[in-house]
Amino acid sequence: MSGRLPGWAALALAASLALTGCTDKDDQARAKGGARAGGSLPNIVLISIDTLRADHLGCYGYERKTSPRIDRLAAEGALFENMISSTSWTLPAHAALFTGLADSVHGCLDMDQRLDESRVTLAERLKAVGYATVGFFSGPAMHSIFGIAQGFDQYADCTSFASMTMKTLASGRSLDGGEIRQAAHADITNPRVYQEVQSWLRQNQHRPFFLFIHMWDVHADYIPPPPYDRMFDPDYEGPVTGKDFATDSSINADMPERDLRHLIALYDGEIAWTDHHVGMILDDLDTLGLRQSTIVTLLSDHGDEHFEHGLKGHRKTLYDEVIRVPLIIRYPGQVPPGRRLAEQARMIDVLPTLLDLAGLPSTNDVMGHSLTPLFSGGKLAGDTLAISELFSEGRRLRSFRRLDRKVIYIAGTQRARGYNLLADPGEQVPLTANSPWGKLMIEDARLGNKWLADFQKIVKPVSVASGELPENVRRQLESLGYIGASGQGGGQTDSP
Ligand SMILES: [Zn+2]
Repeated sequence: MSGRLPGWAALALAASLALTGCTDKDDQARAKGGARAGGSLPNIVLISIDTLRADHLGCYGYERKTSPRIDRLAAEGALFENMISSTSWTLPAHAALFTGLADSVHGCLDMDQRLDESRVTLAERLKAVGYATVGFFSGPAMHSIFGIAQGFDQYADCTSFASMTMKTLASGRSLDGGEIRQAAHADITNPRVYQEVQSWLRQNQHRPFFLFIHMWDVHADYIPPPPYDRMFDPDYEGPVTGKDFATDSSINADMPERDLRHLIALYDGEIAWTDHHVGMILDDLDTLGLRQSTIVTLLSDHGDEHFEHGLKGHRKTLYDEVIRVPLIIRYPGQVPPGRRLAEQARMIDVLPTLLDLAGLPSTNDVMGHSLTPLFSGGKLAGDTLAISELFSEGRRLRSFRRLDRKVIYIAGTQRARGYNLLADPGEQVPLTANSPWGKLMIEDARLGNKWLADFQKIVKPVSVASGELPENVRRQLESLGYIGASGQGGGQTDSP
């Protein structure tokens, strides 16, 4: 494992790298990825389970048995108890995962933007040193049109409405935004994702590979197939079905407590259904003899709100129910089994951690730091302040979180709410202005904003002009229903 410079101290080195003038992106990826011989590289399997709250997994202390296979994976590797996403929805979170950059630095903040070609992704770094790279995605915000397929040899659409979209386009009709959202929310994709992964693994097991798997079914609607639909609430006879989660007005903050309990039981059923498929993928790795040579990482992009703060779904707030996600890493011989780590980990830390575990040189053009020192009882090289951001659908929020405290600002203003996470982990009682924690939180925000500003000097900012979508991409997004004709986010009632 290579040592890493502290993230903030690395700025100077990154600046000098920039001055040496790597202009070609492939050279850049090679330089940053190193040139180690391909033979000894471990495989990397990265599983992202969309909309999975950490606190609904057995290994994170949940009382229901939602996740026997994920729990076993955690027992075989390391579990991060405090993993914080960069945002509360799919696209920017995955852009942060793939680049190691905070959302306002990678610049892909909303669905009328795409990840700029100048960003160097994890897949590009791994491809540059000889990895086969493949991704399977199953939700609309992961479409290659948003620029996040950079570096993948193959990036496959496992949504069931992909064929519907193509048929509609071929017929000359534009797909309505409501149609695609409804189809996405009703979609059940785990079997298709699993079949694709299984087939790909059988054909590509002999070369070091990076396999990214995006699993969608935990995302609303909450409609797990039998027996998972009745697994956690078999006696319920009420009206809640889990369908139309976003648009059904009877699913609201004042709904009967019994119905809400059933809704959450259905969410848990989706987790168990997904856990079953995760287990099959892990079994296949064993069958193919790949367990020892493969780093398996499992995480989520964000959680979901169940009215803890009066709202449902995600992409609305930055409370912990939407930004605290699981992170589990298994790599036999390198990551000690059963290790539980309390330190705060962040979405931006995953890329440098995986490079480090793979024995590849560290890179200085990312904001995160490697978490690997924790596996041997060491200390992290940099600050663990977690920044989460939400600049979408009219919301402009930025939070600064440490293990014991969190402050959420309306970006660009002094309006903020702070919480003592030790006394109030549910973030129900905002601290008063004269709280002794106030000064600490203001300092957290100052440090965090300076960090973002400093990195925006290092990583070439995407200008407003270049961040705008090319006309052909805009038209395609409109026809897919992702954005309205005005190109401003489509006014969705819920988020992909
Ligand atoms: Zn998501």
